[in-house]
Amino acid sequence: MMDGYAGKVLRIDLSTDEIIQEPLSKKMCEEFIGGRGFVAKTLYEELPPDTDPLGKNNLFIIATGPLSGHFLPASGKTHFGSKSPATGGYADSNMGGHFGPALKYAGFDMAVITGKAKTPTYLYIRDDIIEIRDAKAYWGKGSLTCEEMMKKDLGEDFQILTIGPAGEKLVKFACISHDFGRQAGRTGIGAVLGSKNIKAIAVKGTGSIPVFDLKKAYAKGKQAFKKVSEKPGFKGWTPEGTAGITDWVNEVGSFPAKNFQTSHIDHSHMINGKKVLERLKITDKACYCCPTPCGKYGKTKTSLGTAYMEGPEFETISLFGGSCMLESIEEIAYANYLCDELGIDTISGASVAAFAIECYEKGLITKEDIGKEIKFGDFDSIVYLLDLMSLKKNALGDLLSQGVKIASEKIKKGSEKFAIHVKGLEWTGYECRNAPSMMLAYMTADIGAHHNRAWVLGHDVVGAGTNVHDLITAGADSDTRPKAVIN
Ligand code: SF4
Repeated sequence: MMDGYAGKVLRIDLSTDEIIQEPLSKKMCEEFIGGRGFVAKTLYEELPPDTDPLGKNNLFIIATGPLSGHFLPASGKTHFGSKSPATGGYADSNMGGHFGPALKYAGFDMAVITGKAKTPTYLYIRDDIIEIRDAKAYWGKGSLTCEEMMKKDLGEDFQILTIGPAGEKLVKFACISHDFGRQAGRTGIGAVLGSKNIKAIAVKGTGSIPVFDLKKAYAKGKQAFKKVSEKPGFKGWTPEGTAGITDWVNEVGSFPAKNFQTSHIDHSHMINGKKVLERLKITDKACYCCPTPCGKYGKTKTSLGTAYMEGPEFETISLFGGSCMLESIEEIAYANYLCDELGIDTISGASVAAFAIECYEKGLITKEDIGKEIKFGDFDSIVYLLDLMSLKKNALGDLLSQGVKIASEKIKKGSEKFAIHVKGLEWTGYECRNAPSMMLAYMTADIGAHHNRAWVLGHDVVGAGTNVHDLITAGADSDTRPKAVIN
C-alpha cells in the first residue's frame, strides 16, 4: 500500500447488489494522484460515450486524494464525478466537510457506483462493512432534515451526504448536501444519485492512513497551519468568509444585477459580509482540519419563515441579492436554506429564478404558466419559484428544472439571449462586461461556467499584478478596498 492512501477502491453495482473492494492501483496513484485525477481517468476509461446521465449506466464517483484526512490544512475536501445531467458533459463538483476523511479512515480512497437500486436506498459504510439499505423512511425528506434523522438513527459519528426532493425528482441542478451546509452544488450531481434511487451515503471509519514518517508529517502539518495563519488573506477571509468580497465585487462593476442586465446594485451594503455577521451569524464553522472557518452558521427570520442555515456565501449573495435583487440578508439566507433543504444548487437555482422573472417581464411566459405574478426583488416570487422548479409543481416548473439553456430553447422568442450559461451550466456570481479574462475562464472551464478553475477577476479590474489575498483582505474593510479600473 502506498503511504498517504487508504489503499482500496469500493465498487457497488446497485442493479445487481454486487459490492467489490479492490486494491488501489499504484500506477493510477502515480499518474493521476487522486481526487479530480481519479475521477477523470475513471470516467474516460469506464463510461461509454452515449451514456444517459440519468440512466443506470452512468457512474457516480467519490474520490479523495493522498493528503485527504491527514493533519494538514483543509484536507477535508471530497470530490465527485459523473456525466452531468445539467450539461451532458463532464460533471465534477466538490465539497468541504468531513466525508472524505471518514471514507479514507474506512479504508477507501475512491468509490465507484453504477446501476440503479429498485427502491429508495442508502449506502452504509462502516469500515469494511458495506450494506445497501432501505431508505423509505428518508425518501421525500429535505436534505438537512434527512441528515439530522440519519444522525439520530446511526449516530453522530457517521458522516452523511444526502440529496433532497429535487435530487429525487431529477432536477438537473440538484446538489449533494453534507454537514448541514456543505454542498457539492454544481453540474447536477445530486440528480445522478436520485436517478440511482440513492437518498444518502453514510460512512464511519475507525482505521488510520499509513504515513512514511509520522513525526516529520506532524511537523510539516504544524508548519503548514502556521503558514496559513500568517498569510495576508487569512485576516480578511476568516471573519466574513467569501461574503467579505460582496462590496468589492459590486464596486468594481462585476455584480450580476437583474439576471445580469447590469453589473451594479445600490444595496450591497445591506447584504454584505458585515450584515451576515450582524444579523445572522451564531458561530463560525470549519471543514475538517481547516484553520480558516469561512462557514457562518446562523439563524434567519423572515416573513415566510425562520430557519437555521450555514451561509450565505458570496455566490449565493450575489445571485439572490443581485440577479434576483433581494435586498435583505435575512431573505437571501432563507432562500439559501430553501435551496439546501430542497437540494438544489443556490447558483443555478437563483439564476433560473432570475431568468424566469425576466421572461415574465418581457411577456414570454404568462401568469397562468407560472401560477402567480413574479418580479425582481420580491421575496414571495423567489421562494415560489424555488419550490416550483425543485418540485416540478407544474409544466413550467418542469421546464425550469432543466436549467436556463433547455428552458430558453423551449420558450424561444429571444429568451436564449438572456439565458446566462456556458455549456448549459449557469454562471456563478460575476458579471463579466469589464472582466474579459474572467469571461474567458467561464468559457473554457471544463464543466461550464464556473469560477473555481480560474478566478481572474482581480487581474481584470485592478491589474495584472493584483494579489488575490490583498483583495480579499481589503474586502473586509471598505475604506481600503482597491479601486476599480474600468475601461
Ligand atoms: S472552512 Fe471554508 S476555507 Fe476551510 S476548507 Fe471549508 S470551505 Fe475551505
